[in-house]
Amino acid sequence: MKAVRKLATNRLELVEVATPRPGPGDLLVRVEACGVCGSDRHMLAGEYPTAVPVTLGHEFCGTVEEVGAGVTRFSPGMRITGDPNIACGHCPACRLGRVNLCENLVAIGVQRDGGFAQYVLVPEGQAYGLAASMPAIHGAFIEPLACCLHGLDVARIVPGQSVAVLGGGVIGMLMVQLARLAGAAVIVLVTRQAERRTLALEIGATHTIDPSAHDAVAALRALSPGGVDVVLECAGVPETFSGGVAMARSGGVVVVFGVTPQGVQVPVMPFDILVREIRIEGAYLNPHTHGRASAMIEAGTLEIDRLVSRTIGLDALPDALAAPPPRGEIKTVVLPWG
Ligand SMILES: [Zn+2]
Ligand SMILES: [Zn+2]
Repeated sequence: MKAVRKLATNRLELVEVATPRPGPGDLLVRVEACGVCGSDRHMLAGEYPTAVPVTLGHEFCGTVEEVGAGVTRFSPGMRITGDPNIACGHCPACRLGRVNLCENLVAIGVQRDGGFAQYVLVPEGQAYGLAASMPAIHGAFIEPLACCLHGLDVARIVPGQSVAVLGGGVIGMLMVQLARLAGAAVIVLVTRQAERRTLALEIGATHTIDPSAHDAVAALRALSPGGVDVVLECAGVPETFSGGVAMARSGGVVVVFGVTPQGVQVPVMPFDILVREIRIEGAYLNPHTHGRASAMIEAGTLEIDRLVSRTIGLDALPDALAAPPPRGEIKTVVLPWG
């Protein structure tokens, strides 16, 4: 089969490899679609740790082709989405139910072979059934949506609140829609790109700010005096983090969601956090949210089609990941058989 593998830092290649065989408890899944994530760029650049060599791709859906011994809930022909994050179940974090913080976490497409291939192995416990009628491309959004749902759970948005979403990529666009569904009254998307600001207004944002044209903090505070209840940092940029803290109202929350390169530091003012009681919380991965995300995608609750910028085959992926994302791009989806 064809697979796109990270062979070393900044070295990604389309290669021919043996189709994996399902071991006990495994599903062999024919990949229908796999989303390209910002994390894949970080992984390729060595800014986020991975196994080497490894097939990347953690946002996939597909059809079960074959099952290993002992599999009871799935059979060939069934459609699934895979939760890529495999927790060990016995470390201190797992025993507290904090599965995303597992000390021995193994992720499909990070530490073991993922969905940028024609087939992927998925342990039965990581699979969630999907309706046969659902467009495959939508299935590629379940994993990022599951992560966003965790971000929303951490933020605890309640109806009537004000929310700033920092970053206009696919995560920002999903967060805008989720904030609207959660009942936020004011939803401000902050992003430099005009196309993204326009799209955000059409799918749920009430306002947008161009941080390259305005002082984003001042502009935000003009829209929402005193700051916003919730800041969702989805850009992974140091300045965005600092600005986000300044955008939160006293008593508000800043959710750290974007991936900054490991090792990057940002100055913070403890006095400001103290006297304004700012809650700063990380939201990492998708603990217990994959099922909710697949239910939302299946139900068609969110605008997905307008977030798909392009679909590509495996052959075009190495170049696509080596180059910076094209202007205005929201999401690229890989169709391994296309
Ligand atoms: Zn991702
Ligand atoms: Zn664990």
